[in-house]
Amino acid sequence: MILVNENFGKLQASYLFSEIAKRVRAYQEANPQAAVIRLGIGDVTLPLAPACLEAMHRAVDELGHEATFRGYGPEQGYDFLREAIAKNDYQARGCDIQASEIFVSDGSKCDCANIQELFANEGMRIGIPDPVYPVYVDTNVMAGRTGAAVEGRYQGLVYLEGSAANGFVPAPPAGEPLDLIYLCFPNNPTGAVATREQLQAWVDYARANKALILFDAAYEAFIRDPAIPHSIYEIPGARDCAIEFRSFSKKAGFTGVRCAFTVVPQGLVAYAKDGTAVPLHQMWNRRHTTKFNGVSYPVQRAAEAVYSQDGVCETTQQVDYYLGNAKLIRAGIQALGLDCVGGDNSPYVWVNVKGDSWAFFDRLLHEAQVVTTPGAGFGKCGEGYIRISAFNDRAKVEEAMARIAKAIR
Ligand code: PLP
Repeated sequence: MILVNENFGKLQASYLFSEIAKRVRAYQEANPQAAVIRLGIGDVTLPLAPACLEAMHRAVDELGHEATFRGYGPEQGYDFLREAIAKNDYQARGCDIQASEIFVSDGSKCDCANIQELFANEGMRIGIPDPVYPVYVDTNVMAGRTGAAVEGRYQGLVYLEGSAANGFVPAPPAGEPLDLIYLCFPNNPTGAVATREQLQAWVDYARANKALILFDAAYEAFIRDPAIPHSIYEIPGARDCAIEFRSFSKKAGFTGVRCAFTVVPQGLVAYAKDGTAVPLHQMWNRRHTTKFNGVSYPVQRAAEAVYSQDGVCETTQQVDYYLGNAKLIRAGIQALGLDCVGGDNSPYVWVNVKGDSWAFFDRLLHEAQVVTTPGAGFGKCGEGYIRISAFNDRAKVEEAMARIAKAIR
């Protein structure tokens, strides 16, 4: 008899964005005339930057000629892209990261989900910020790491509570240490960013406890404050205790193109039960080359073009455009007398709605025809908040804020 992974039964009923889609669909079916504006899901709306498009076209043409045709590429990514990433994203910021430490992939969602295959299913305390991107929790639940006391020691998920009081940047906890720690800055959903000192505290904690940080920097390109680190590797000691995830999705509008990368430094280790140190770079390389066959050549050429002179200029303009939207959203929300954070170094504005977040979501959908994301979907501490995404057309953001103002007032 075939047996199922019963851990799936422990997942929350539905993935957050499927539930939102269901409610929006139901509303639209009942109100076919309503012009719904979507500030919910964090998907980009601007077309690809010309520099990326041209590079992709050129690469597609190469595939049509015998002399330049390519089949399978290196699973870890072509050197031209790995070198561009290492040089521009890391070495230019003083981070000691080499091209050989970069693993190119088709998305950070898969990477931050798949990375946990390297770790034991039992025996770990896993720190997960609350609220946060739901993928970290759900993938650990699927692997059975929900939480249980084993021989007097609690194992499994440990929520690191974010609130207005700590600026949605949880500090390392006192007491029984964590073994694996997820951090996401700029944060989804709160838009909070971590200072150098806050990240240093986490790096020091991880090193002192032989713990590992999984640092998700999917929104790094939105950081405008020069004092805020873009990478965990800007923090001394991070090479010894951190893996970093980055994506071209929000940086360059690649949500439909699909390209991301994970940095696993050489020399970074986790431990076998007997205390033997096991290098994670080699393990991830083994996993990646066994289960993944590389990102397509045209997509990697398009990603490389993000670092060209034109690419930098065009993609920076795109991110600035979304940040301009975020500023309008913040101003609109503050004018209504509601508290919010985020939106300055992030595309998300996190609004304190002082009540049930799904009820507020429904109210905005029904009374303003604006889709947002209820905070409860990001964890217990997200209750009482909604996330408003700046990924949309400027005119639509203006219209949405005018409608929200009318509905709320
Ligand atoms: N990490 C965070 C925090 C995200 O918000 C997202 C997407 O919204 C991702 C990762 C996924 O990125 P990708 O499109 O590269 O899979």
